[in-house]
Amino acid sequence: GCGICIKKCPFDAIDIVSLPEELEHPTHRYGKNGFALYGLPVPVEGKVTGILGANGIGKSTAIKILSGQLRPNLGNFDSEVAWEEILKRYTGTELFDYLQTVSKKSIKIATKPQYIDFIPKVFSGTVAALLKTTDERGRLGGIIPLLKLDAILDHDIATLSGGELQRVAIAACLARDADLYFLDEITPFLDIYQRIAAAKLIRDLAAERPVVIVEHDLAILDMLADTVHVGYGKPAVFGIITRPKGVRVGINQYLEGFLAEENVRFRDTQVVFEKRAHEKGSNREDLFLIPAMTKKYDMFQLTAGGGTVRAGEVLGVVGANGMGKSTFAKLLAGVETPTTGSVETTLKISYKPQYIKADTSDTVEMYLRQCTNKFDSSMYQHEIIEALTLNPILQSPVDSLSGGELQRVAIAGCLSRDADLYILDEPSAHLDVEQRVRITRMIKRHAEGKEVGIMVIDHDIYVIDMISERILVFDGEPGVQGTASGPFPMREGMNRFLHELDVTFRRDQSGRPRINKPDSFLDREQKSLGEYYYYS
Ligand code: ADP
Ligand code: ADP
Ligand code: MG
Repeated sequence: GCGICIKKCPFDAIDIVSLPEELEHPTHRYGKNGFALYGLPVPVEGKVTGILGANGIGKSTAIKILSGQLRPNLGNFDSEVAWEEILKRYTGTELFDYLQTVSKKSIKIATKPQYIDFIPKVFSGTVAALLKTTDERGRLGGIIPLLKLDAILDHDIATLSGGELQRVAIAACLARDADLYFLDEITPFLDIYQRIAAAKLIRDLAAERPVVIVEHDLAILDMLADTVHVGYGKPAVFGIITRPKGVRVGINQYLEGFLAEENVRFRDTQVVFEKRAHEKGSNREDLFLIPAMTKKYDMFQLTAGGGTVRAGEVLGVVGANGMGKSTFAKLLAGVETPTTGSVETTLKISYKPQYIKADTSDTVEMYLRQCTNKFDSSMYQHEIIEALTLNPILQSPVDSLSGGELQRVAIAGCLSRDADLYILDEPSAHLDVEQRVRITRMIKRHAEGKEVGIMVIDHDIYVIDMISERILVFDGEPGVQGTASGPFPMREGMNRFLHELDVTFRRDQSGRPRINKPDSFLDREQKSLGEYYYYS
């Protein structure tokens, strides 16, 4: 047998009603009690293949198999399996031709890894010097302006912001000459404009070469991928990768938590979007008046002030990169002082920065105990520890965590502190889709339950849509000046923000927002009506 018989699933993570034949045995299994992967994504010439699902369900393992770095063992972890046997297993499937190629020749793969913070540790020099080593197809000249890297070509890699480093890493991957391209998350720290630009470039590449991507920003995945494979299971224990689904259907099934073809429910709640913006929370009381203030740096000036945050509400904060959103958060948190004006309040403010430093070898539990004296209460265990799935890492040193784990710990730390106003700067970065859905729920519950105000700066439109009651909009000129306006009701705020970006969204039958193709009929119609996001 294959060890874990997933038909009689010993884990209550998912409710498997019936199991397709080809999933009775794993594709690969790491050792006796090791992780087991079922199914594989199918790379297709001329297409972008997306993988959608939680971290730890075997995406990287699948890519290692597709790139020939790992020969699948079909669950026989104690013996080498011959290619002949592997190919026999895949006879008559979409993967047969592809795997036959892998068995015969070496596949060259170009990868954009999920975590990029190691890049400055392994490369020293300028952006231009790094990119030059990757220009294997002579396409770099076209990629650089589209990712707006011209202005930072002379910058030292060590000095780049997260968003700049992300764009350099994407450019480096796309410039290579490979048989297969794998991009593991392109969006962390990019604004929507940059996300769309990167997505377009990847689509251009896919016209010539097969591309596989993992992406947790579903609005971007939707415009980027042609097909998606949903990955589900129990992270670190086993993962099942479905057969390919059309991107619209695949994302809708994922949000619904139910895979129709497979007859599997993997989540008991579903994610729904509102087609019309409601005026919510009008009976909430004002909590905090945003003080009039400015902050001047050498090259940049921020202006903010006016408007209130209400008790019990989550206020979304949107705007392109370089508009001063993080600076604004730092001023409120007292990390920076304003050039004019001041933040005078008796309210306690708890803040999670955009870039999180893991500068302690304390365990996660030790760290959280410093943030709260309620750690042992069942409410804390339920609402923070369980909601963020922190149990498996409570005894891990903070400085050993992955980016996604660190993000969850930082969110927990911020919400653990006793405060009146909470500010979370880009909490979705490095979280998988499942975790985004969960933090959205827990942040809303925290605001309402404790009657506190929570400001969430984020670029994931679905997160902003799910989480916000109203939004604060930053506009201006990136890197030069930025102004915070609002808070606005959702409709007005989204129109203002998306007008600035020149992006419109339509709705599919389920109500899910989808990015319109620029200059398509709907794009032009919605722009002329001034309805960028909601229909009246
Ligand atoms: P994902 O990319 O979806 O996050 P991975 O494929 O990296 O998932 O990992 C899935 C699981 O397989 C993890 O629990 C990981 O610890 C385990 N795993 C990955 N590589 C190995 C290996 N070489 N030996 C044993 N276990 C591994
Ligand atoms: P956002 O969060 O909207 O991307 P930031 O507040 O991080 O924007 O940055 C706004 C601008 O201010 C950027 O051009 C950035 O380079 C500049 N900036 C931020 N912090 C400093 C600083 N400490 N010194 C000088 N310039 C800064
Ligand atoms: Mg920022």
